[in-house]
Amino acid sequence: MSLFKTIFAGSNAALALAEKAVNDAIAAKGKEQKVAFPDTAYSLPIIFGATGNKITTLEQLQSALAVVRSLIVEEEDLDKALNAGLATAVSAEIIEAVKYALADNPYEDEAGIGFIPDAVIRSLGVPLVSGDIPGIAVLIGEADDDDSLAAIVKDYQSKGILTFLVGNVIDQVMATDVKVGLEFRVIPVGHDVTAVIHVVSVAVRAAFIFGAIKAGDLPGLLTYTKERIPAFVNTFGPLNEVVVSAGAGAIALGFPVIADVDVPEVPGALMAQKDHQMTVKTSLDARNIKIKVTEIPIPVSFAAAFEGERIRKDVVYAEFGSKRSKSWELVRMKDLDEVEDHKIELIGPDIDALEPPVYLPLAIIVDVAGKNMELDFEPVLERKIHYFINYIEGVMHIGQRNLAWVRISKDAYAKGLRLKHFGEVLYHMMLDEFGSVVDKCQVTIITDQEKVFELEKTVAIPRYNARDERLASLTDESVDTFYSCTLCQSFAPAHVCIVTPERLGLCGAVSWLDAKATKELNPNGPCQDVPKQGVEDEAKGVWEEVNKAVDSASQGKVSRVALYSILEDPMTSCGCFECICSIFPEANGVVIVNREYSQATPVGMTFGELASMTGGGVQTPGFMGHGRHFIASKKFMKAEGGIARIVWMPKELKDEVADKLNETAMELYGIDNFADMICDETISTDIDEVLKFLTEKEHPALGLDPIM
Ligand code: SF4
Ligand code: ZN
Repeated sequence: MSLFKTIFAGSNAALALAEKAVNDAIAAKGKEQKVAFPDTAYSLPIIFGATGNKITTLEQLQSALAVVRSLIVEEEDLDKALNAGLATAVSAEIIEAVKYALADNPYEDEAGIGFIPDAVIRSLGVPLVSGDIPGIAVLIGEADDDDSLAAIVKDYQSKGILTFLVGNVIDQVMATDVKVGLEFRVIPVGHDVTAVIHVVSVAVRAAFIFGAIKAGDLPGLLTYTKERIPAFVNTFGPLNEVVVSAGAGAIALGFPVIADVDVPEVPGALMAQKDHQMTVKTSLDARNIKIKVTEIPIPVSFAAAFEGERIRKDVVYAEFGSKRSKSWELVRMKDLDEVEDHKIELIGPDIDALEPPVYLPLAIIVDVAGKNMELDFEPVLERKIHYFINYIEGVMHIGQRNLAWVRISKDAYAKGLRLKHFGEVLYHMMLDEFGSVVDKCQVTIITDQEKVFELEKTVAIPRYNARDERLASLTDESVDTFYSCTLCQSFAPAHVCIVTPERLGLCGAVSWLDAKATKELNPNGPCQDVPKQGVEDEAKGVWEEVNKAVDSASQGKVSRVALYSILEDPMTSCGCFECICSIFPEANGVVIVNREYSQATPVGMTFGELASMTGGGVQTPGFMGHGRHFIASKKFMKAEGGIARIVWMPKELKDEVADKLNETAMELYGIDNFADMICDETISTDIDEVLKFLTEKEHPALGLDPIM
C-alpha cells in the first residue's frame, strides 16, 4: 500500500473506533452524560483548538465526529494526508474523552497518567524556555529489546529531554532500572495508542496558555506547535495503519517521526533509524536540538532530570543536616589571588570512614573570584548549590543556607560517590554556568564537627545577615535600574516581564538580583537594563523608559505598563505564573490562587480557568499573573489600595506568606495579624459566606473605594 493509502486507511479505522466508542457510551450513559478532561480550562483541547467549540456532553461529542469526517479527503496529496493525520488525532481525543465520560479516573489502574492537567504544563514553562528542558520526546510502540530502549530513555534523561511513553514501551522501560515519573522527566502516558493524544494536547494547550493562540485558529495553532514546541516522535516496532496515520498527525503539528523500521522517508518529517544507538542523535538532529554537555568526573550520573529524586530513609547511606546534625553552605566572593582554581579540600572524615548510616555535620564553602564578579551575585550562585547537588543521581538536597539537608543513597555510595565529588560538581557547574563572572573557583567541604559549628558562627551567619540587610534595603525607590526579562518569548512572543526589587518575575524564579546577574552573565541575553527614568505616575508605577522598553521588547504589542496596577495597563502574563490574582467585585477586593490549588474559588473559577483569562503576552485588566513573593510586596496593587484588597487565598498560600504579609500590613496600614482577616477554602468559597467572614473580621477592603 502507498503511504497515502495507509494514512487514509488508518484515519478511517480510527474514525470507526471513535464512532463506536461514542455510540456505546451513549447507549450506556445517555446523550446528556458529561464529557470533560480533569483540571483544564480548555475543554477537549484538540477539538477546541481546531474548531473553537467546547464539548461538554456525549451528544456534542457525537457531532464532533463530523469534524473528523470533514478532515478525511482521500486524495494523493501531502496536505490531504496531513489533514487525515489530524483527523486521527481528533478521533483519538474522542476515544480518550469517552474513557473520561465513563469513569472518573480511567487511568487509575494504569501505569500511565492519562490526561495531563493545565497546571503541569504551566509549571513546565520556565524549564522549557530556559532550555533546561531542551526538547520533548514521545516514544510509542514496543521495542525489540528492553535494554536498548532503556539506553535511549536514559540518554534523553541525561540530556534533560522530557520523555513521554505510550504503549508497551511503558512496561519495557519500567522493567529496567530507569527512574520513571514526572520528577524524572520520564512520563508513562498510557498503553493504548490513542493515549498519545494526551501529549499532543500538551502542545496544543501550550499554544493557548503561552502563545495566546485563539481557539479555532487551526493554521495559527499548527504554526505555533511547529515553530515553538521542540517535540519529536520515536516509534518502536512494526507500524500499523493507525499508528502511521497518527504519525501524519504528528507531522502536521511539526513533530518529526523517527521509526525503527523501514518507512518511506519524507525529509525532515518521517525517517527511519534502525540502529537504536543512533536514535537519539537522529532525533535531536531532526528537530535541531542542541545539547550542551558538561562532563563531570564523578562515578554516578549527573542530570537535571534527577533534581526531584527523593532518597527514602531506608536507602540512606549518609545524611547531613536536618535533625541529626548541622549543614550549611556558602558562596563567597574573594580576590583573584585568594582563590586556587579547582582546589577541592575536605576537612574532616569522608563518608567511608564511618559505619552507615553516617550522620555528619557538613559545611560547603564555594570561593569564587572573577573580574566581573559582584557581591550581589553571591546569593544567585549560592542558590544554585541546591540544584547542582540535586542533579547528582542518588543525592537529595533540600533547603539552603544553614538549613540545608543532604542525603546520599546506599546505591550512590556503592558506585563510589564520596564527598570530594560534591566539590567536582560544584567546581565544574559554577564555571560552566557562571563562567563570565567566575574566573576561579575552589571548594572546601568540612565535616569536622567543631569547625562546622565555629565557622557557621564566624563566617556564614554574618555573611547571610549582611545579605539580608542588603535585600531589605533594596526597594524600587532605592535603585535607578529595573530589568526586562524576555526569556518566555520563545513561547509567549509578546510577553515581557519588568523585574524590580519589589516585584519579581511572575514565574517566581527571577528576582531583581537574578536579572542583574543574568544581564552581566549574558549581556545580549534575555535580561536587559531598563533605566528608571521619566516618571509619569509614581503611584501606579509608570515610567517613560519602562514603557519604551516594553514597547520595543514586545515588538509594539504593548506600549504602556503600570507596574503597580491590576486594572490600568497591568503587566502582561506569559503563562508560567506561580499565582493568578483576579478581582472579586462583590468583596471589593481580589482573590489570589496558586497553581497547586485545583479547587473552585469564590469567583466561581479554578486556577486553570482564571489563568486561561490571561496569558500569551496580552494585557487583561482585572487579571494578573505573579510570583508568590510579590504578594507581601508594598507595591502589590499599590494603585488600587495595595494588599488591603486581598480577601481570599488558598490556605497553603496564605500560611506561606502570612508573616511577610502581616509585616507589610502593619507598616502600610497599622493593621495587626492581617492574614487572619483573609478568607480561605477551609472557611468558605461561597460568596455570601466569604462576605460574612470579611465583615466579621472588619476586613479593610470593605472600606475602600469601589474597585470597579
Ligand atoms: Fe519568563 Fe518573566 Fe520569569 Fe523571565 S521573569 S522567565 S519572562 S516569567
Ligand atoms: Zn513564562
